[in-house]
Amino acid sequence: MNFKGIPSFLIVIISVMMMSQTAQAAVKINYQLSFPEAQAHYVEVEMSIRNLDQAYTDVKMPVWTPGSYLVREFARHVEGFRAQAPDGKALRAEKISKNTWRVYHEKIADLKINYRVYAFELTVRTSFIDASHAFLSSTSIFMYPDGMLNLPSEIKIIPHKDWKKISTSLDSKKGDPYTLYAPDYDVLGDSPIEIGNQDIIEFTAAGVPHYVAMVGPGSYDREKIIRDFTRIIEESTKIFGKHPCKNYTFIVHNVPSGGGGLEHLNSTTVQTQRFSYSAEATYNSFLGLIAHEYFHLWNVKRLRPAALGPFDYDTENYTRALWVSEGFTAFYDNWLVRRAGFYTVDKYLELMAADFTKQTNLAGNNVQPLSESSFDAWIKYYRRNENSNNSQVSYYDKGSLAAALINLEILHQTQGQKSLDDVMKYMYDEYYTKLNRGFTDAEMKKAIEQFAGVSFDAFYASYIDGTGPFDYNKYLDYAGLKLTDQNAGKNDLYLGANTSATGGKVMVTAVTAGSPAYQYGLNVNDEILAIDGYRVDDLAKMLNLKKTGDTIKMMVSRDGMIRTLDIVLAKDPNVKYKLERVAQPTPAQDAVYKAWVK
Ligand SMILES: [Zn+2]
Repeated sequence: MNFKGIPSFLIVIISVMMMSQTAQAAVKINYQLSFPEAQAHYVEVEMSIRNLDQAYTDVKMPVWTPGSYLVREFARHVEGFRAQAPDGKALRAEKISKNTWRVYHEKIADLKINYRVYAFELTVRTSFIDASHAFLSSTSIFMYPDGMLNLPSEIKIIPHKDWKKISTSLDSKKGDPYTLYAPDYDVLGDSPIEIGNQDIIEFTAAGVPHYVAMVGPGSYDREKIIRDFTRIIEESTKIFGKHPCKNYTFIVHNVPSGGGGLEHLNSTTVQTQRFSYSAEATYNSFLGLIAHEYFHLWNVKRLRPAALGPFDYDTENYTRALWVSEGFTAFYDNWLVRRAGFYTVDKYLELMAADFTKQTNLAGNNVQPLSESSFDAWIKYYRRNENSNNSQVSYYDKGSLAAALINLEILHQTQGQKSLDDVMKYMYDEYYTKLNRGFTDAEMKKAIEQFAGVSFDAFYASYIDGTGPFDYNKYLDYAGLKLTDQNAGKNDLYLGANTSATGGKVMVTAVTAGSPAYQYGLNVNDEILAIDGYRVDDLAKMLNLKKTGDTIKMMVSRDGMIRTLDIVLAKDPNVKYKLERVAQPTPAQDAVYKAWVK
């Protein structure tokens, strides 16, 4: 500041103001976590907030975790919230909303808050603690003082009994791996912490130190993990040209069944079946999951829609662009596995054909636009029910196919010179690196148009904001490819109901919109007893005795009452695509094809 030309009395006032500003020390936040009852799935949290200058402080627990768009109400696992002054005197605290505790401290500047969290849900988006380890999904563990998300914090971890290792992307204090530092709550909330005796694999790829924390036994080979992860990491980094992380941590939960992942700023948590490393097909799909989460460190963690960061942890954060953040990432996951050389071209095209097939056969295609599927993720995608396939599309599945078509259009318009890679790199440089803000829907569209050199108005109107069916072959033809329906010409029977056979009962689990089952009133939860007077044990086998146009009398048990439905069987409308090259591709088609399959 320059004081020249300012009257002396003003200088005094300004100086006093500056002094009072410097006298007001910054608010300090510390957490201490301990696990005296790890076997019962509890973590004890002690949070201290110092240098407060207000009569009361609202302390909040997030309601959701970024990357997983569902209000999960983490406060429901909190117990025993209490607040104290430095002299140990209890301070009055009351809940003022489902996830907010108001602590009244009048002139007391330093607070100590204690609570415990029950953690017994081993998914990538929730926390889990038992005697063997703790996985802390930070937004479900750490509370924050309202209005102070920008403040740094220090986290001291007191491990349970024989836990010896900690894996997280948070910085630790020199010489003390159990004291961590977060520059603000967004980083803390976006850094899961694994504590226990995990097997840690260390390596450097793309110039960045990487750590893989293998939690639980699995059929992995340490050297192969290093080799194969390195290929994925380097292929991904090539797209953006630079790697923004100081280090990167993979927390891998090896589990008996299940799978999935959640992306974070400088880390990811994934779940995989512990023997998925053994067979080529399951191993490659595990690599697809790794590629997916890794690609997210650019796409969504940094290059992001405007609504996704800084986050509001108190409520839903709405965006119409998850088809870009998740769909493009879903397109890149298998594409990166292909580019890194794990899938042959034939295998990659087979996987693409399966994606086209799945999407085409989905009844929800006619109902929900892609951008709406993104917006309503909070109430629909994460809350699927028996009717979801009739009413929804996935912003992963359909978004991934939209990315494939956009990529083909850009390749076609530029004779294979430019691709979706260039759009991603441009968007990253522009909105993350230069402007450091989220992009709008219009900015994303504009960038696609800029690289393709053509308007995407019709594309968006039909495929993104509308429910028009994809004209796959128009785009695939650019690469000299075509989809052929293996079911064409067949006369397979169609009922349109999914069933499960459990305990000797054939139960209806889903009914497809427009199918005979739907039209003639078969319901989910009906037990199918008999067809035309014969007991049903194997539904498919019995239907095989019928032909298209036959009317069957289906006896079902519904609400404990027997009824008979007359159902006219139809021809199966489902497609089964194969993706093949045209007999004689033109040089232009060849250029697009080569640029695509690399
Ligand atoms: Zn994802």
